[in-house]
Amino acid sequence: MSHEFELITQYFQPLCSVESNEVGIGDDGAVLNCPANHQLVVVTDTLIAGRHFPLDTDSYDMAWKSLAVNLSDLAAMGAQPAFYSLALTLSPLENNQAWLKSFSSGLKALSEQAGIRLIGGDTTQGALSITITAQGWVPQGKALLRSKASVDADIYVSGQLGDGGLGLVNVLQKLAPDAIGYSEQAIEKLNRPVPRLSLGQALLEQGLSVSAVDISDGFLADLNHILNASNLAAVVEYDALPLSAAIKDWARYTQNPLFGLNTGDDFELCFIALPEQAKQIQTLSQMLGVAITKVGQTQVWDGQSERLMVLNGLGEKLALDVLGYQHF
Ligand code: ADP
Ligand code: MG
Repeated sequence: MSHEFELITQYFQPLCSVESNEVGIGDDGAVLNCPANHQLVVVTDTLIAGRHFPLDTDSYDMAWKSLAVNLSDLAAMGAQPAFYSLALTLSPLENNQAWLKSFSSGLKALSEQAGIRLIGGDTTQGALSITITAQGWVPQGKALLRSKASVDADIYVSGQLGDGGLGLVNVLQKLAPDAIGYSEQAIEKLNRPVPRLSLGQALLEQGLSVSAVDISDGFLADLNHILNASNLAAVVEYDALPLSAAIKDWARYTQNPLFGLNTGDDFELCFIALPEQAKQIQTLSQMLGVAITKVGQTQVWDGQSERLMVLNGLGEKLALDVLGYQHF
């Protein structure tokens, strides 16, 4: 069982890197340089054991995911990651070498990949809880905002939808490899989502989009955030949605056609772009090696009817009872 300061020195100090005129871990606060003509984007997310990940999740994966969900928010703003701090509450169960070593390795792996630096935090004792606050930069006035979507524009999503949700089903129901819905890819996506940072930054830099959201609570719920903030309606084509065969099998098997659309943990981006950008968006998709799929259009909202319609191949509306994951 380590004491607070030994623990910080052994596991977190090595992850801290600052420039020669900056201050990281070790003082009352961090002191950091800010690039000129940029704005700071600040995001924070807490992960609670048993709620945001199953209790038996590996500590490497907990660390990865805690950082990934924050980076996904930065990606949705088009920000370049800069710094993060870690507020860690540990119970005696986690305060041991094996747990902490694996936890700090997970943090190190993703932070190096994303180019984000640990600059401080807080360590307390209690039920396991991990809060990360991350900061990134955007050029002045250029952040991708939920409120900036325009009418008659295309709605895109990156990657595939529903994998995180199916991953959770796999883990909670302990699906066997020959079971319907079994998917290793989905479990991997649940535990180690890869935030779409390059995509978010490229959309901003190339001026391809001004409005995005990261899909963390379910595609329908998160698209709805854009529609509410921009006062728009939208039509989505179910058949256009990037859903894997495993997701479609599971949706049929559970008779839940919305499976994958209202499940959480995708950490993909949903963004809005003008139709004239379609070609450049496909070029970007090839350049990044990330699938980007057009799934619908924004429309004028009449102030009364539903904001969001999902149409099947016959042009019929799907009933949208539960849009996404709700915490309360
Ligand atoms: P204070 O007493 O001022 O709250 P602490 O004793 O909590 O400071 O922390 C000492 C230093 O260690 C600070 O620089 C803080 O940012 C850093 N620190 C504490 N916990 C963590 C952590 N979990 N990860 C990274 N840095 C941490
Ligand atoms: Mg403190």
